[in-house]
Amino acid sequence: MNKDFFSQSDWLDFERRHVWHPYASMQQPLQVYPVVAANGVMLEFEDGRRVIDGMASWWCAIHGYAVPELNAAIEAQLKNMAHVMFGGLTHKPAAELAALLLQIAPENMAHVFFSDSGSVSVEVAIKMAIQYWHAQGKAKKSRLLTIRGGYHGDTFGAMSVCDPDTGMHHLFSGIVAQQLFADAPTVDDDETWSDAQIASFRSRLKNHHHELAAVILEPIVQGAGGMRFYAPEFLRQVRSLCDAYDVLLICDEIATGFGRTGTMFASEQAGIQPDIMCIGKALTGGYMTLAATLCSEKVSDGIHAAEDEQDGAGVLMHGPTFMANPLACAVAVASIQLLLDSPWQQRVLTIEKALKHMLSPCKASADVADVRVKGAIGVIEMKQSVDVGRVQQQLIEQGVWLRPFGKLIYTMPPYVIEASQLEQLTSAMCAVVLRP
Ligand SMILES: *Cc1c(COP(=O)(O)O)cnc(C)c1O
Repeated sequence: MNKDFFSQSDWLDFERRHVWHPYASMQQPLQVYPVVAANGVMLEFEDGRRVIDGMASWWCAIHGYAVPELNAAIEAQLKNMAHVMFGGLTHKPAAELAALLLQIAPENMAHVFFSDSGSVSVEVAIKMAIQYWHAQGKAKKSRLLTIRGGYHGDTFGAMSVCDPDTGMHHLFSGIVAQQLFADAPTVDDDETWSDAQIASFRSRLKNHHHELAAVILEPIVQGAGGMRFYAPEFLRQVRSLCDAYDVLLICDEIATGFGRTGTMFASEQAGIQPDIMCIGKALTGGYMTLAATLCSEKVSDGIHAAEDEQDGAGVLMHGPTFMANPLACAVAVASIQLLLDSPWQQRVLTIEKALKHMLSPCKASADVADVRVKGAIGVIEMKQSVDVGRVQQQLIEQGVWLRPFGKLIYTMPPYVIEASQLEQLTSAMCAVVLRP
């Protein structure tokens, strides 16, 4: 296809008729905005308008765009090889990335399985847990327990542990595995904690542990399932209950990882260690698609205890075509190094303070149900569903890019956002909320 295949105007028309967007209709698609470049925290639209990216491309672009260090890492790796299969071959970028991850992950994490997206890393985590129990001769322990309001991805295993009401369970009922759901905690700090917060979870675990392979949850911050924050005490109690009832704990840190909540990983805020952990999204600084599932020695030893074919023969049964893609590993190494060399804790704290201060006027609106901030995440929850198309247009008029969903208008900007840009971003959010 030659470069001038489309005239200036008709490519968008073609795209609208033939290319699907996330959670979209092909017949009545919402408006999409063509981007031609991205630099710093700015996206540049085809018509020349520039907007501040308040979404960091769905949690990913923590350093912003066109980052010299990350560009250089990709270019250097490209000179050697873009990709080779990981079956029977290996390369230094994968080893370097694994070393860096194990250095920053919770202390008990010992092994890394690379995959190509967050959802797949969740599938791998579920497999690890199921294979673990299978190898112990406890094949009945194959279900999962989670809390309501979660989001873990769009593939079938991941979908089965998303919130049963806002997730896609109704659409795929009879196809999606039936998992167990406990009430999510309703308090977001340890001061207001009471034992009632864990009652539902405790009773599910007590009644079903014999059939449970693992508990899976997003630590501290539930992302796409509703942007809710909960008390670290809940996670501490979950950890000790999992130990007491002999059930593995999977922490899905795909959204929360790499500093977003103020600590490198959110589980640190509760001082707990998971048995299995999923990471993705900001792993490559938003450059390439890459995810990983980490696990403890206990989990890998357990899987390897299987003796015969029927028990899985001790090998983990997964192997994506693009496993440990070298370009993605190389840029992930550069992104983590850049993060570690930056004052990221200070930056996230500064953003947190600014968001708290600048979004608080929105509480005055009768249309607003709640305003909450955690780390570099700011959420305005409306009482009614947001008209995404209209609100997006109003925000763009003010030079800001956000993608509201449901009742939520929220931001998780790149950590490098400047004070004046954050001011413009939050002013725009307040303006659309407070608009008569
Ligand atoms: C985004 C997300 C996923 C899914 O990741 P994909 O890369 O979109 O497949 C899983 N879990 C959490 C917590 C997420 O935020």
